[in-house]
Amino acid sequence: MILTYRFRLKDSSTSWLNKAAKSVNYVWNYCNETSFNAIRNNSHFLSKYDLNKLTPGVAKELGLHSQTVQSICEEYATRRKQFKKRKLRWRSKKSLGWIPFKASCIRIVDDVLTYAGNKVKFWKSREIKGKIRTGSFSQDARGRWYVNIVADSEELEPAKENSIGIDLGLKDLATTSDGQKFKANKYYRQYERKLGLAQKDGKKRRIKTLHAKIANSRKDTNHKISHELTRDNNLIVVGDVSSSKLVKTNMAKSVLDAGWSQLKNFLKYKAIRRSGRLIEVSEYLTSQTCSSCFSVSGPKGLEGLGIREWACSCGTLHDRDINSALNILRIGHDSLVLK
Ligand SMILES: [Zn+2]
Repeated sequence: MILTYRFRLKDSSTSWLNKAAKSVNYVWNYCNETSFNAIRNNSHFLSKYDLNKLTPGVAKELGLHSQTVQSICEEYATRRKQFKKRKLRWRSKKSLGWIPFKASCIRIVDDVLTYAGNKVKFWKSREIKGKIRTGSFSQDARGRWYVNIVADSEELEPAKENSIGIDLGLKDLATTSDGQKFKANKYYRQYERKLGLAQKDGKKRRIKTLHAKIANSRKDTNHKISHELTRDNNLIVVGDVSSSKLVKTNMAKSVLDAGWSQLKNFLKYKAIRRSGRLIEVSEYLTSQTCSSCFSVSGPKGLEGLGIREWACSCGTLHDRDINSALNILRIGHDSLVLK
């Protein structure tokens, strides 16, 4: 299984990267120009081998590892073919920094990475498992550097024989049919409030920073939830989150949608890694149907959104979200039987 690890580099040791990124742009633009000329003059496309042959010895002069130059040529040839273009976009000062490499270009000892004679420290948030294949240094919109490492990881333990339904929501990010409630990262709401203020004051830089923080904390939470649920269940059923849930919130619909679909994506790929599966079912009436007697007797419509608990005429007392998750699980099971 191929996994990509991403670690933030410690700012104190990244100055050489900006210079290397310029060199990468130079090589990229050289590929772009040479390749375009070849197409125009000979109507012939240059392969990665052709480009490699045209760039011998430039690496040292530019302060790059020779295999980085190879990686740029390969990436260029692959992208040009993929997009079926005669020419790709030039890389400029405005492009976010990117320096690709192969396994043999780097050495990692603890939290220190060495590349072409440069040492850089990184925040090693987890161990790299398996054999390193390729990777890159890359910059985010705020100019911070990361190292991305692609490694062949060992197989994971298969998921436990168990199934679970998940109700995705606002107050709790995810509520499961066995009664677990997952909350957003504790910083999340705080960032959101600050974002609201920053937007009111039109502070652009601050808005950008907060958006990045929100995205990070959301990703963090989604990784935790999806890890636990895919480890403990080999069948996971989620609802196709309805937009009616979004009515009672000030949050932008796109922000929530992005969070939910990220969680679903994480659940999906992690389930596959553990030989489990994720299925998505219609959420229609799942919060109004009693999961014990199946009568549609729960709180209806918009007024119902604020009601967290309700009693069915059959005598069952429901937590709204757990009941909904139970229904989602049942619909998931039914859909498997019917197929
Ligand atoms: Zn009932």
